[in-house]
Amino acid sequence: MTGNSSRVQAVQNIINRPPMPVKQPEPLSSLWASDVFTLGKMKESLPKEVFKSLKKTIEASEELDVSIADVVALAMKDWALSKGALYYAHVFYPLTNATAEKHDGFISVQSDGSVISEFSGKVLVQGEPDGSSFPNGGIRSTFEARGYTAWDVTSPAFIMTTDNGATLCIPTVFVSWTGEALDKKTPLLRANAALNKAAKRVLSILGHTDIAPVNSSCGAEQEYFLVDTNFVSQRPDLLLAGRTLFGAAAAKGQQFDDHYFGAIPERVQVYMQDVEDQLYRLGIPAKTRHNEVAPGQFEIAPFFESANVATDHQQLLMTVLKNTAKRHGLVCLLHEKPFKGINGSGKHVNWSVGNATQGNLLDPGSTPHSNSQFLLFCGAVIRGVHKYGPLLRAAIATASNDHRLGANEAPPAIMSIYLGSQLDNVFEQISQGKITGSLNAGVMDLGINTLPIFSKDAGDRNRTSPFAFTGNRFEFRAVGSGQSVAGPLVAMNTMLADSLNWVADALESKLKTGADLDTAILKTLKEVIDTHGAVVFGGNGYSAEWHKMAVEERGLANLRTAADALPVLKEPYVEELFNKLGVLSPVELASRFEIYAEQYILAIEVEAKLVVSMAKTGIYPAAIKYLSDLSVTLSSLKSNGIDLSNERLVHITALVTSMMETVSKLSSIISRHDFSSPEEHMQFCAKTIRPLMDEVRCFADALEGEIADELWPFPTYQEMLFIK
Ligand code: ADP
Ligand code: MG
Repeated sequence: MTGNSSRVQAVQNIINRPPMPVKQPEPLSSLWASDVFTLGKMKESLPKEVFKSLKKTIEASEELDVSIADVVALAMKDWALSKGALYYAHVFYPLTNATAEKHDGFISVQSDGSVISEFSGKVLVQGEPDGSSFPNGGIRSTFEARGYTAWDVTSPAFIMTTDNGATLCIPTVFVSWTGEALDKKTPLLRANAALNKAAKRVLSILGHTDIAPVNSSCGAEQEYFLVDTNFVSQRPDLLLAGRTLFGAAAAKGQQFDDHYFGAIPERVQVYMQDVEDQLYRLGIPAKTRHNEVAPGQFEIAPFFESANVATDHQQLLMTVLKNTAKRHGLVCLLHEKPFKGINGSGKHVNWSVGNATQGNLLDPGSTPHSNSQFLLFCGAVIRGVHKYGPLLRAAIATASNDHRLGANEAPPAIMSIYLGSQLDNVFEQISQGKITGSLNAGVMDLGINTLPIFSKDAGDRNRTSPFAFTGNRFEFRAVGSGQSVAGPLVAMNTMLADSLNWVADALESKLKTGADLDTAILKTLKEVIDTHGAVVFGGNGYSAEWHKMAVEERGLANLRTAADALPVLKEPYVEELFNKLGVLSPVELASRFEIYAEQYILAIEVEAKLVVSMAKTGIYPAAIKYLSDLSVTLSSLKSNGIDLSNERLVHITALVTSMMETVSKLSSIISRHDFSSPEEHMQFCAKTIRPLMDEVRCFADALEGEIADELWPFPTYQEMLFIK
């Protein structure tokens, strides 16, 4: 092994690392939700009336009776103490994709100096973290810093155990003193409520009288990379930006497709089991794990849950993935594009709507053509994605996700919808004005007696579509791996609520003029597909033809970068959508634009600074050391009569010179702040700073292929991706 001494040391450390002990997994029955204050535990510990009231709020969204808070708090505290917790925390989700928590002790000092554990209903229900340092997009100035957290009963409290102890965690919303949402949970709860109302309208027009609360569901598949800590600690880019800003491709990448679904490396499997053990204790139903396409890349997918709980669980899952990796000497990278030239990571948000009485409202059954309820809900989704596609794009717009969207590995930035052949056909019939039947899904007969004959799905999959129907749900595939799923879910639920209200209005007006229900339904569906069918696309979303056709013939937006997409949040039709459904007020929406724009700019500034410093203090010194060694060696050889060409000397000199010239250019523009608007500043980041960063990288990566390996200062792609 060559490599500079610290890289050699890193590899030695990894080789000599004792394996993590393999824990014998406990039976699921004793693990499952053992750290969660579940309905079952509430039932055991609360008076019957109190439990009944709480259950109604949780399951039927009935108003929370605050007078029961003291009793609940007491039971919760006793349970938490029995689990060894000395502290409790209101957990909330600020507008940063992170999770925030402020810990308070149960301790209460008495007048005689003794202490007791105390936890009242008041502190369960409401907290007041100062929180003035969280981004608020101009809603609060620092002298008006009050922010409140309020208990979200619908997401269960849990114990978070770390090596440092146990804490009772209470999921909460986070709002300003003036009542504006400062978090990601508040609009999600409001969007769920709007969806519930709109869906019930449609269901009751269809003749249902017993309609349970309608909720959205979410199952998020999470992709991530694992890299050994020994390498990450030597890569300032991975440490601070979460992705490599330099690095020549290894000779082998993912071209053999030999990592995808391959045998999971032992060290990784031990890690995964450790993660799952904790997830199960937290009541998070981890279900699927496998290797992903890129070397060093993996995926975990839990079973789906109601959107609000799934969102909280998704945040927890990201925390558990990261914290557990540390214990295993690994770093879990959730960035959308940690390594150039191999696939990045996404988060597929599987999403549906349903309730306890009518079931999954996006389940077509085996004869979708005769399932008008399904068709109306599916039609509402089609209308939503067409009308609010740019909003969906904005909901996944981050500096890091820009590297994926449109890079022929992830769905394009153009929002279209994939239905599959069976539904395509049904909607085609609707457009013709007459529904006759559903294409048969058919069976798969492999012609080998010993293999079973099985039934096929009615539609294939299409991994190039950002928004694909997958049998009984939609899968929003363009979401970033490091993102909270709350934003995308808010966008999806709000657009669907709007569309369902439109459907209800359309049906009602037709019924009023004397149409029978079937005719009203068919006419409404025809209007949907005739007006919004342009968003349905079943072909190759990666192809250049689609990109041209989508924009020029179908009028769909192609918002390539977050700088192009985020301003959609300022569009009047988006403001109206959120405002009329009570999801976000204009002030709240405007503040979100400010915050996301700022985060985009800051993310690129940090990266640009890293490019400058790594190039100047790491790559340049290594390159000139090599040049100097080389020229000394060449002249000494020459004096001994061996005359080697100095071609390489010239080539490397040219690369170093060009790299440093570009570094100077980049360095001089990073801190430009004389922009008239955040939009202009974002465009400058996207169109001027980023390309210069790429240019520096080009020269640097070429240098990596030229100079002596023992001088190269940063762990290489080969090391980071293949040594574990
Ligand atoms: P694939 O990789 O084949 O798309 P996975 O099994 O990895 O599928 O993940 C599918 C995800 O979709 C899981 O989280 C699953 O629980 C979720 N899912 C299934 N049905 C629904 C539904 N009705 N609503 C939301 N999510 C669902
Ligand atoms: Mg999937």
